[in-house]
Amino acid sequence: MNVALPLRHALLSSIGVDHGFGLRGFAELADLRCPRQVHGVAVATAAQCAERDLAPEADAVISEEIGVRIAVVTADCLPILLAGDRGRAVAAIHAGWRGLAAGVIGAGLAALRDRLGKSERVTAVIGPHIGNCCYEVDEPVLAALELHFSEILPRALRQTRPGHAQLDLGLLAREALRAAGVERERIGYLEGACTACDAERFYSYRRDGPETGRLVHFISAGHPIAEG
Ligand SMILES: [Zn+2]
Repeated sequence: MNVALPLRHALLSSIGVDHGFGLRGFAELADLRCPRQVHGVAVATAAQCAERDLAPEADAVISEEIGVRIAVVTADCLPILLAGDRGRAVAAIHAGWRGLAAGVIGAGLAALRDRLGKSERVTAVIGPHIGNCCYEVDEPVLAALELHFSEILPRALRQTRPGHAQLDLGLLAREALRAAGVERERIGYLEGACTACDAERFYSYRRDGPETGRLVHFISAGHPIAEG
């Protein structure tokens, strides 16, 4: 069977962090610590997610356990993988428009920073998600986002028909990371990774409906490439 290798990003690789953004066919969920995602702002720990059935409801998960992979799953929403310098503590965040509007990125970052030294910087990489090319939203969504992203929101929109606009989730995520203090050059992005455009590589809820698969995105603390 052809097993898809996950996508990596140079920013996280450069600090020696084991990580991967999932593709179609990559589904190693068995060994991963994953919360039960509910489009909220709660943050779970790797330890709390050790048993799948008992994992708490959360949309961010953090870990300092070396070699233990934490994960979030998506099918259009934003996966964001984060690490402190040298990867001593890491986080994975799942954010759709509801999570963005509720502040899940700030919540996940705050929990990660609690585990880092004052001088440690955070690196964050935004993974494959539905691009503005394929993501038209309506007034209720825009109204919810308006509360959290009032100044930046117009830049993330392209008007389509009355009461609708194409929304750039990635731009909002970058803004939320910046607002939470992540330096611009420490924010990474996978270019050309629209889940709805690219049916060969990605699952997409918008394109394929609720029965579609889930992309699995993981990260673990420590620096395994420095071992041995
Ligand atoms: Zn697209």
